[in-house]
Amino acid sequence: MTLTTEDKKAGMQAAFAQAQLAADQGEIPIGAVVVDQTGQIIGRGYNRRELDQDATEHAEMIAIRQACQHLGLWRLLDCTLFVTLEPCPMCAGACINARLGTVAYAAFDPKAGACGSVVDLLAEPKFNHHPQVIRGLYQPEAKDMLKKFFQAVRAGKIQKPSQNRSDKLQ
Ligand SMILES: [Zn+2]
Repeated sequence: MTLTTEDKKAGMQAAFAQAQLAADQGEIPIGAVVVDQTGQIIGRGYNRRELDQDATEHAEMIAIRQACQHLGLWRLLDCTLFVTLEPCPMCAGACINARLGTVAYAAFDPKAGACGSVVDLLAEPKFNHHPQVIRGLYQPEAKDMLKKFFQAVRAGKIQKPSQNRSDKLQ
């Protein structure tokens, strides 16, 4: 399926809205949505790693899980994942396993990105499925959101959920 400029804008804006939900709770703002071939959002997720103390609760995993539940199918063939940060190896693996049609991401992740930065799992010819990839879609906005979040953390304006937790334990 070919995404129009409007499709891309709507999808990434919905992913940014999810990322904001993470930021509002002190999580690193990463958001994702899965959109079907009609443009309907069928899965949403935001980073909940600290909130749930769960290394697998990445935005993409949550959105993909919700989309599979919505369709009652594990294959998301004609669907697009929009995510505000380049997927890590786990999430890139989930994109392959879910047979996603397209993966569109905003900011590159030079430390953990598995869609071109550290490695490029989605382009690995030995895998049996290759989603289309759109890189750097609304990248400046995504980088700005992350930068502002970390500035607020350093300024003490945002408490990370893990810090709240250690406060409770003391
Ligand atoms: Zn991930």
